Amino acid sequence: MVPAQSLPQLVLATRNTYKAGELKLLLASAPVEVIDLSMFPDAPPVDETAPDLRGNAALKALSAQKHTGLWTLGDDTGLYIDALGGRPGIHSARFAGERADAKANRALVLELLADKSDRTARFMTILALAYPEGIHYFEGRLNGRIAETSLSTQGFGYESIFIPDGAGVSLAQLSRKEKNKISHRAQSAMALVSFLGKLKKG
Ligand code: IMP
Repeated sequence: MVPAQSLPQLVLATRNTYKAGELKLLLASAPVEVIDLSMFPDAPPVDETAPDLRGNAALKALSAQKHTGLWTLGDDTGLYIDALGGRPGIHSARFAGERADAKANRALVLELLADKSDRTARFMTILALAYPEGIHYFEGRLNGRIAETSLSTQGFGYESIFIPDGAGVSLAQLSRKEKNKISHRAQSAMALVSFLGKLKKG
């Protein structure tokens, strides 16, 4: 086993503890030492001003890279609902307003879909790796549909109203292990792990 000191450090460019926890688990087998922004309390917040997930993931990674000088990883995720023309998409965090919480965001989705029979949707994640060679992107998606009502009091963001294809229950009701086999973030992380493995072999 390679000692942790000889592995490059990879900073997760997020202050979202849910995302950071999930990414740490998903990247456990990667040939990097994963650390998070809690070690860099002065790292500035990032305004998500780009027009798409890729741009916002890059803004997060590059801002953290500028501050830390280390390899960094930005995550941007959105929920795309077909009957709403792809909304909330990049506006998923603040769909119901600047100060809206996840409950208000879910309520607005359910309200807008109340009379809709097409409830298909997908989660999309883009991971942006900023490293000495430049920036590299990894994509993951999870297809599913929006439930008629919230199916759990657990789960992050929109998970209690999103039923992955083939699951029969909402993402919030799956065990962490089951979720991490299929999720949008897991798929993008697997692509990143494979990329880092190839880099290491050089
Ligand atoms: P962000 O802009 O990538 O931080 O995420 C936008 C919003 O999407 C978050 O505030 C959550 O509401 C939602 N979101 C992001 N990732 C997930 C996820 O894995 N499950 C459910 N909702 C998520």
